[in-house]
Amino acid sequence: MTDVLVIGAGPAGLMAAETLAAAGRKVTIVDAMPSVGRKFMMAGKSGLNITKDEDIETFLSACGPMPEVMQTALRAFGPEQVKAWAEGLGQPLFTGSTGRVFPKAMKASPLLRAWMGRLTDLGVTFHTRWRWTGWDDDAVTFDTPAGPQRLNPTVTILGLGGASWPRLGSDGTWSKHFEQIAPFHPANMGFLVQWSEHMAGHFGKPVKAVALNAGQTSSRGEFVISAHGIEGGGIYEVSRAMREGASLTIDLLPDWSLDRVRKAVQRPRGKNTLTNHLRKALKLEPAQLAILSEFGRPFPQDIASIIKSVPITHSGPMTLDHAISSAGGIRFEDLQGFQVRARTNVYCVGEMLNWEAPTGGYLITACLATGRAAALQALVQ
Ligand SMILES: Cc1cc2nc3c(=O)[nH]c(=O)nc-3n(C[C@H](O)[C@H](O)[C@H](O)COP(=O)(O)OP(=O)(O)OC[C@H]3O[C@@H](n4cnc5c(N)ncnc54)[C@H](O)[C@@H]3O)c2cc1C
Repeated sequence: MTDVLVIGAGPAGLMAAETLAAAGRKVTIVDAMPSVGRKFMMAGKSGLNITKDEDIETFLSACGPMPEVMQTALRAFGPEQVKAWAEGLGQPLFTGSTGRVFPKAMKASPLLRAWMGRLTDLGVTFHTRWRWTGWDDDAVTFDTPAGPQRLNPTVTILGLGGASWPRLGSDGTWSKHFEQIAPFHPANMGFLVQWSEHMAGHFGKPVKAVALNAGQTSSRGEFVISAHGIEGGGIYEVSRAMREGASLTIDLLPDWSLDRVRKAVQRPRGKNTLTNHLRKALKLEPAQLAILSEFGRPFPQDIASIIKSVPITHSGPMTLDHAISSAGGIRFEDLQGFQVRARTNVYCVGEMLNWEAPTGGYLITACLATGRAAALQALVQ
């Protein structure tokens, strides 16, 4: 007899499992992949930014529009609680200059190991290589190495993830078991650029300390010139506005006023080429100059205005395969809280729900918060 079944061993499903097991329920977790938390582990490759050190109101407004039920979940389990939880698992944390919070280990494996240990101590059992294949009446069905399996749990928590980076397990194929979902879109993704030949020498190079502006959204930081286009943190922060149609401009010298740039540009150039003059007068790095030349030419009379606002031409967002996360998924109107209206005692958590947030620790925090909130809802129903 299965009491609680959690399908999907990402941060959202694991947090639901922890909350239910801590309340004395008998929990079984299954995942289609050979090991748990693959996307969480991948997030660890860039240090595992688990939350943002912000008060909850600032945190919520940085997330962007979010349904009330998610805001409530985050008010109950936001940045403070995530930090306490990670430290409770024996993981010392540090906060970077931008407020991003990371384990000092700068990877996911020690935290995940400690978390698995806690779940095992709480009596949770795990099955990997179990792929959920839907429902047969009320039975939950799976393909497993030992052939098809059926379970009849009292409570089912689905934490199947979004549809980005499908090779890590969350491939969005679960969507066919629902009548309707909000279509998936890439979120926190780069944009494709058809570079001219001279850009090849800059592939892999960061463009540092710039400001990126798209519609009402702006970010300060860096991005990377890749063979396919522009990627990295600075772009991800404005990617939602860009996906929705806003044009991107880049300020190459955000700490300089337009007037200061103008004065520096107007200094006598001597025998220097224009590029050399700009490099010396403005201390622009080669990658910044390459972006200026690629998108700013032909230069207008007032070159300073272009340096402060380089218009970027792109051919659209990169695909889901290369996006950090996805928008779309289970619609909140099809849920009561986190419970599926059409199926009693089935709950959805994490990135499979139709919300999105920027990178910067917001995603993992929101996944943990929904996992906990759905579990608490299941406990009282
Ligand atoms: C490269 C990269 C870096 C990232 N860095 C960060 C970061 O630093 N900070 C941050 O906040 N976020 C980061 N993210 C995003 C974050 O990792 C995800 O938002 C988060 O893991 C989603 O959690 P989840 O539990 O909802 O789903 P997932 O972690 O995707 O887990 C879903 C699980 O469900 C399983 N599953 C799917 N379908 C089935 C099925 N049919 N049967 C059984 N199991 C199934 C999958 O195998 C998977 O294990 C990053 C993402 C990527 C790709």
